Amino acid sequence: MAGYDVAPLAKLTEQFQRLPGIGAKTAQRLAYFVLKMPTSQAEEFSQAILNAHEKIHYCRICCNLTDKDECNLCSNPKRDQSTICVVEDPRDIIAMERTQEYHGVYHVLHGAMSPLSGIGPDQLMIKQLLERINKGNVEEVIMATNPTVEGETTAMYISKLLKPLGVKVTRLAYGIPVGGDLEYADEVTLLRALEGRSEL
Ligand SMILES: [Zn+2]
Repeated sequence: MAGYDVAPLAKLTEQFQRLPGIGAKTAQRLAYFVLKMPTSQAEEFSQAILNAHEKIHYCRICCNLTDKDECNLCSNPKRDQSTICVVEDPRDIIAMERTQEYHGVYHVLHGAMSPLSGIGPDQLMIKQLLERINKGNVEEVIMATNPTVEGETTAMYISKLLKPLGVKVTRLAYGIPVGGDLEYADEVTLLRALEGRSEL
């Protein structure tokens, strides 16, 4: 990084630039901002990063992010455990929850199948999903992967695995634009997609 004389500052800028959506200029601005923070605040900031890293892991049941053994959704007795909504990313759960109309539980795959990027079924939390279903008591699995080639491929792949297990597999009816991201769908669109889901 040319132009930086102060190595620690250059290093900090470099770290910010690694974050998604942060360009060189913004990274520099953030680094200077952190530098101006009182020491206590800087400590709080770095501690928050470390804490999140240390304490957050996958929920033992649905692979959502949690700091407990089971996430708040899995351990909530009011949630219908017989319906599982399969999503790619933990942030998709937040989007689905915004509809306030879904009362089942979730399963987070942590990605979608993408042969070009070398992501196959083994890199996703598919085995954990099958284990859940093999335990019984699951009636419907809603495939809520993104309406992209990767998301569709993943939905089809999983539905083929689940069908022989005698569970109903449905797919969100997409008012969501193809190639779009579930996370950014507004709640009305998502609610319509949920209500109009069809069997795979
Ligand atoms: Zn969970």
